[in-house]
Amino acid sequence: MYNSIDVPLFITIEKEALFNVKRILEKANLFINNPVIVTDKGKSYDYAKIVGKRLKIKNDRFIFVSDNTYEEVKRVERFARSLKSDFIIGIGGGKSLDIGKFACYRYGGYFLSIPTLPSHDGIASPVASIMIDGKRMSVGASMPVGIIVDIDVIKSAPKRFLYSGIMDIVSNISAINDWELAYRKGYEIKYNGFSKAIAFSAAESVLNYEDKNIYKEEFIKILLNSLVLSGIAMEIAGSSRPASGAEHNFSHAYDLLYPDNQFLHGEKVGAGHLLVSFLRDKNEYKKIFSCFKSFEILEELKNIFHDEDKIFESLKKAKDLRKDRYSFLNEIPFDERIFRSVVKKVKKDIFSF
Ligand SMILES: [Zn+2]
Repeated sequence: MYNSIDVPLFITIEKEALFNVKRILEKANLFINNPVIVTDKGKSYDYAKIVGKRLKIKNDRFIFVSDNTYEEVKRVERFARSLKSDFIIGIGGGKSLDIGKFACYRYGGYFLSIPTLPSHDGIASPVASIMIDGKRMSVGASMPVGIIVDIDVIKSAPKRFLYSGIMDIVSNISAINDWELAYRKGYEIKYNGFSKAIAFSAAESVLNYEDKNIYKEEFIKILLNSLVLSGIAMEIAGSSRPASGAEHNFSHAYDLLYPDNQFLHGEKVGAGHLLVSFLRDKNEYKKIFSCFKSFEILEELKNIFHDEDKIFESLKKAKDLRKDRYSFLNEIPFDERIFRSVVKKVKKDIFSF
């Protein structure tokens, strides 16, 4: 059996990386001739301007995206094609990277990822989250050739975005449980122990990090490395299985039911992880809860748990959301009384801190 795996050539996480982008690319033996920059009109544009200046990329090679829509992907693809670009450089939080790597996948160019927020594991994953016909879909995308992270940029991100990244990476513990379960029961054909080991270690290194000061340089490196490793685990698995199980189904259900919600991906995933682990394994629940507590994430989670009904409805919907993604929630019958009491208990735990 042959499995083709695409992994990035390099990952650089350092202070003032944006100002040193030229040196970083040269050191990696990467010579970009004809790039375009995908970014947004927010704060990322300031960062993109630094990169543009250092690499002598003119302003007319910048394209600004506003939403993760298929139309935007096609617009970026047309732009890159018309300029015969060899590289698409994505600079931003979620949407610029999602659109950039999906456009690259369709176009056939190379992708360079410069994340400005540490809020999810899509920084270097072969999956992009795109709205197609009004529905949020996970689609196949290009793995980046390289990833450049500027520690100073991450340090200026509000803590909520770091919390989101922590919860997204820790959720691998839940996803792996579901992957193993689905494989054992014959609902999943593909299972890869190497991918599991990477996804698991990535989660554990954040989970077990002693000093909970999230803005410490050492922790930022651990978090970013882990988020990238999670993406590589997905590439090896050939699916998002090692990083997406019932807790991600909960997040997708929440988005489907309440599409205008303003919660971050990791916040919905973290909420889902607490609920699912409460039902599945109290030890896992305790471990996750104490991790969130020590990182002082519980205060943030109070916002999403405030509306108990929305949490309950999403948990109910998560059960049958993806038929192709068998999880622990498929193992248990729906019982309104039990589901409501789980929501109440988890909420009570969160609000008692
Ligand atoms: Zn995720």
